[in-house]
Amino acid sequence: MSSSENFTFQTEAAQILELMAHSVYSNREIFLRELISNASDALDKLRFEAIENQALLSDDAELSIALDVDTEGRTLTISDNGIGMSREELIENIGTIAKSGTKEFINKIKAQKEASGLSADLIGQFGVGFYSAFMVADKVELLTRRAGESQAFRWSATGGEGYSIEESERASQGTTITLTLKPVNEDDGLRDFTSEWVLRDIVKKYSDFVSYPVKLEVEREEAKLNADGEAEDGGDTIKVKKLETLNSMKALWTKSKSEVEADEYTAFYKQTFHDWTDPLETIAFKAEGTFNYQALLFLPTKAPSTLFHAEHKIGVKLYVKRVFIMEDSKELVPEYLRFLRGVVDAEDLNLNISREILQQDRQVQAIRKRVVKKVLDALKSLKNNDEEKYNSFWREFGTVLKEGIYHDGDQRDTLLGLLKAESTASPDALVSLAEYKDRMKEGQEAIYYMTGASRIAIESSPHLESFLDKGYEVLFLTDPVDEVWLQMVPEFEELKLVNVSRGEVSLSDDQEKEKEELDAKAETFGSLLEKLKETLDEDIKEVRLSSRLTKSAACLVVDQNDISPQMEQLMQAMGQDVPKSKRILEVNPNHPILEKLQAKFDADQADATIGDYAKLLHGQALLAEGGKLDNPAAFSALVSDLMTRALS
Ligand code: ADP
Ligand code: MG
Repeated sequence: MSSSENFTFQTEAAQILELMAHSVYSNREIFLRELISNASDALDKLRFEAIENQALLSDDAELSIALDVDTEGRTLTISDNGIGMSREELIENIGTIAKSGTKEFINKIKAQKEASGLSADLIGQFGVGFYSAFMVADKVELLTRRAGESQAFRWSATGGEGYSIEESERASQGTTITLTLKPVNEDDGLRDFTSEWVLRDIVKKYSDFVSYPVKLEVEREEAKLNADGEAEDGGDTIKVKKLETLNSMKALWTKSKSEVEADEYTAFYKQTFHDWTDPLETIAFKAEGTFNYQALLFLPTKAPSTLFHAEHKIGVKLYVKRVFIMEDSKELVPEYLRFLRGVVDAEDLNLNISREILQQDRQVQAIRKRVVKKVLDALKSLKNNDEEKYNSFWREFGTVLKEGIYHDGDQRDTLLGLLKAESTASPDALVSLAEYKDRMKEGQEAIYYMTGASRIAIESSPHLESFLDKGYEVLFLTDPVDEVWLQMVPEFEELKLVNVSRGEVSLSDDQEKEKEELDAKAETFGSLLEKLKETLDEDIKEVRLSSRLTKSAACLVVDQNDISPQMEQLMQAMGQDVPKSKRILEVNPNHPILEKLQAKFDADQADATIGDYAKLLHGQALLAEGGKLDNPAAFSALVSDLMTRALS
């Protein structure tokens, strides 16, 4: 007999476990969904490993999940004959939480707990399912034997202090989890989890579509058979025990759309993908011919919090002939559709298929193409037929979809057609490029946009002045990814896409006349502009007169072929070394400041305050576009000096 060894939980694991154990929790019953889902994963993994190693399936027991109750001892066990865990895997998988979102989860859960008690969707979403057992149990024991190994291990814990592991015996591979249940307390969500009817109800509600049978041993009274093997009316009865399967195991994707009710799809979606909101849209299709496959895909309503984490799993599962192959099938779905959830089941793929082969497989490529097309078609029709719904989709997932504009050249035009953005036309409405084009003003020659960190930061930028004066709409493109795709998209339907804070802009009806006037003024102010440039040399590559300003004195623009400050930040964030690129300071030739400054300069070319004014103009321009000053203290000292002078 080996003795048991004690371990402490990793900090995050202990915190989560304690939260589970001590929170007010209205929806405790979902622990069963989590444990059944883990058992189902373990069976999937076994089936997958068995493709390479047939021997793992040699004991010809049906792959299944069994529930067992001891009403008197108040225990519930959930067992599976899946992959099981080795000692190392026990420590790794159950004692620690490796996911990067864990801290965030703990904070959210604490906040929620304080506000209104916990909501159940947080738990599935962050994949801390196993610990949810502590919502209903004071003690959790786990007996497991890894497939292909003979030694079993017993793990047990009573709370967040720690756990123990000891060597043990198990007849075959798989995992049995025994929960010593807390006392029944219906008001606190603690139903009687040893009752057949309660278990039936919970399994039906949360795990009906699990593709392995979830069985429960039930006791029934049956008529005792007489000597002829017949039941007699009014004769004796006996109690018999038998296993009943509680879930329907419907593989909904194998059915054609007409055979399935909308709410069956919804229930399937919620159970399979642990989402508590209905899907926004269901897309089902099948292909018959050269390649045969079925697909059932969903657009979620809400973005999961992991959408921009590296570990975000693409929720499309690949099955081959009903056998689960892999979860995170990037080969089937491009990254820019990573919000999709669903199932693709291929008839003709080899079960042995590896990820490397998958990438090159012609059938997989064909499926991927079709998935993309179907999803984009669905989005197009949503956009045309239900604008409100489409807009809510766009606000959740538009940022992700935009990645496709630069990654997927084949779909670029379609994706541009799906693009929406806020604009100067309204405080919050979204406009598409086609709508923008339709309502363009007479004489407007391009689609105008501005990029920046957020709408609030840029919507009062001086750059917009002449556009607003003209009544031209300007789009606000405020996702970091916008900077990237815009570089690859010079036009939309023969209209140039023009950044209002870049290069030279002329909106005049008579551009020649405007240029002449500007040239004349440039002559008048030439020496002053030179002087300003000299002072600001470190940050500014040129000082010139502006034709885009109507009210403000100055603004900063990016030279036509330089990278923008946002792009600079983006590249720095990605760890790239980017040389600081200087911008151009544009000053408004019609602003009184300029004439007065010129007069000052003419009076005394060595006047030191001119340098101060240059810095003030530059700082102002930066602030007006929502930018940050390199040295706020110095700027504020200049402003104070100026005020003192003005007041004296
Ligand atoms: P998740 O399922 O999101 O990975 P859980 O907390 O539910 O998170 O489970 C943690 C890990 O514990 C699983 O990833 C798996 O490796 C392991 N595990 C849990 N239950 C079982 C089981 N019945 N059989 C095998 N491994 C299991
Ligand atoms: Mg789980």
